[in-house]
This record gives sequence, C-alpha cells and structure tokens, in this order.
Amino acid sequence: MSCVFCQIVKKEIDAAVVYTDEWVVAFKDIHPQASTHVLIVPKKHISTLNQLQDADAEIVGRMVLAAQKLAGEFGIAQDGYRLVMNCNSDGGQTVFHLHLHLLGGRRFHWPPG
Ligand code: 5GP
Ligand code: ZN
Repeated sequence: MSCVFCQIVKKEIDAAVVYTDEWVVAFKDIHPQASTHVLIVPKKHISTLNQLQDADAEIVGRMVLAAQKLAGEFGIAQDGYRLVMNCNSDGGQTVFHLHLHLLGGRRFHWPPG
C-alpha cells in the first residue's frame, strides 16, 4: 500500500497531527495555502468522493465536525474559513485518499476561478 495518507494514519510516516478520533486523523498540510491549512482524512482508505457509499455517511459527517472543532481551536471560526474537497483531475485532486482541506487566516475569493 503506497497511499501516503494511509501511511500517516498508521504513523508509518511523520505528519504534524493536530486531531484524531475514531474516524479521522487531521494534520497540517505540508505545503500550506493559508496560515491555517489542515487536512482531515478518514482512517478508512476511500480514494475519491466518487467511491463514497451510504455506509460512509458517518465518516463524512465526522470529517466536517472535526473541521468545525479545529476551526474553533485555530481561532478562525469567527472570521471564517473554507472547507474544500477536490475530486479527480478537474477538481485538482493530487492525493487519492479522501481529504477535507480546512483553510483559514486569510480571505478567499469566490468564484474560485
Ligand atoms: P489535493 O490536491 O489532493 O486536494 O490535496 C492534497 C494535499 O496534500 C496538498 O495540499 C499537499 O500539499 C498535501 N500533501 C501531499 N503529500 C503530503 C504529505 O506527505 N504530508 C502532508 N502533511 N501533506 C501532504
Ligand atoms: Zn489511503
């Protein structure tokens, strides 16, 4: 298994882990795009949004709730933040293990372009 996020989940490679629970692990992005840039990943390997199944509904909910909690801890809840999940090439996905980006500490534009 050469999935880098599975390796982080299993602690086979280092990451700056900021949160873990029964469902998810969250760690700082290695190439941050904002002063807060955390990735929330399920412990279960799911390659893209396209592979999600009904049985995974709790996992996705837990990812979002972990992001909400971390936004509070990182002090960005009040000013705001952005949650992003990229899917496949047009979505800009580069790591094929589902992940939610938590981005904050600066203003993001919309539409994203
Ligand atoms: P994607 O483009 O797939 O939505 O996002 C993948 C993210 O994972 C990128 O922002 C990239 O910087 C981050 N990333 C890739 N490899 C590693 C790694 O080994 N460690 C950490 N902490 N982040 C990684
Ligand atoms: Zn994986």
